[in-house]
Amino acid sequence: MDSIERLQAVRAEIAQACRACGRNPADVTLIAVSKTFPAADIAPVIDAGQTVFGENRVQETRDKWPALRAAHPPVELHLIGPLQSNKVREAVALFDAIHTVDRPKIAAALAEEIARSGRRPRLFVQVNTGAEPQKAGVLPEAADAFLAECRERHRLEISGLMCIPPAQDVPDPHFALLAKIAARNGICGLSMGMSADFSAAIRQGATHVRVGSAIFGHRPLVNEA
Ligand SMILES: *Cc1c(COP(=O)(O)O)cnc(C)c1O
Repeated sequence: MDSIERLQAVRAEIAQACRACGRNPADVTLIAVSKTFPAADIAPVIDAGQTVFGENRVQETRDKWPALRAAHPPVELHLIGPLQSNKVREAVALFDAIHTVDRPKIAAALAEEIARSGRRPRLFVQVNTGAEPQKAGVLPEAADAFLAECRERHRLEISGLMCIPPAQDVPDPHFALLAKIAARNGICGLSMGMSADFSAAIRQGATHVRVGSAIFGHRPLVNEA
């Protein structure tokens, strides 16, 4: 299979997962995660009609996407990797959505840059549902307070929550926990589910699934976030 056939297979599986739980496939956005893949691998996927892409590094996006964007129909770019405060200005300029808001310093820097630039990327707060020490994201028990701080202190509109469950865990309880935190905070967006588990995430209410290798094939191990 090539990437176009794999893209179609992923789309079919999303539609099937939606049918199985009575959801509308139009309510699930497929983010094609193109990190590590060169422009030559991405261009055919854009030409096949995919319009939303995810990258995990600001610098790689800056190197790769301006030329792709100039040569193809409009695409949306989502930042799904960690954001450092010294990259906030560039991230706001490059990305249409940022999934990794997870600490006060980043929230403050985003608020300042959004006000300065007039650009308004959609924002997701990352929650470390497995409380893994090496992983980014606010802890589940700190999520409500952090969301209140983003909204009330920094006047940020938060579109959704995002999680990356621990690799060794059954993901469903992590997805359910994220959905519960979102619901009690009046948040509609849920960025959850990757190549191995996007159908399970859709059953738990995912509105954005981030799918890389199931579309583009295996990645070299150099750029794992
Ligand atoms: C790389 C990555 C993905 C995609 O992973 P696959 O298993 O290749 O689908 C999704 N989300 C995040 C945050 C990632 O870094």
